[in-house]
Amino acid sequence: MLPYKIVKIDASNWKRPSWDEYFLKLAMLASERATCPRMHCGCVLVKDKYVLATGYNGSLPGTPHCYEDGCMVVNDHCVRTNHAEINAICQASQHGISLSGGTAYVTNMPCTNCAKALVAAGIKRVVVFSDYHDTLAELFFHDAGVILDRLPMPETKINYDLETFSSARRFDDDDTNS
Ligand SMILES: [Zn+2]
Ligand SMILES: [Zn+2]
Repeated sequence: MLPYKIVKIDASNWKRPSWDEYFLKLAMLASERATCPRMHCGCVLVKDKYVLATGYNGSLPGTPHCYEDGCMVVNDHCVRTNHAEINAICQASQHGISLSGGTAYVTNMPCTNCAKALVAAGIKRVVVFSDYHDTLAELFFHDAGVILDRLPMPETKINYDLETFSSARRFDDDDTNS
């Protein structure tokens, strides 16, 4: 007799995300922190399935947000924020983390400047699910040998089913302390 029994629970309607879907979803989550209403972008830098840094388009630390003080527009572009990719690279630099050989998951195709920064930081693969205007990213990635993958946009729902997980319960459940 085994000291345990195998219990199989029907999870046929459960679809576990692939690694690429998972990190793209994290990039979408990061984009929720963006501070410019003209564009919400998120970036997750990954190596060996390990998150090295995250970023979203936002103002410099301690300076006003577009949402509060308005956008600073030059030639029809808001220049108040750093883009998500730059902020992720800067976060890694603040913590002394090498990005060499890593993958960048971005909600949209990087702009030309961010593409060049990703290449220079040693990123070897870029994964996106939407496009960006007037960018030469593809050209720079191609010339640098960076793999560019366009994947479908992941679903925007976070699947966490507190009601059906047999080991979880709400804090306010009546029987929590009984
Ligand atoms: Zn703005
Ligand atoms: Zn950019």
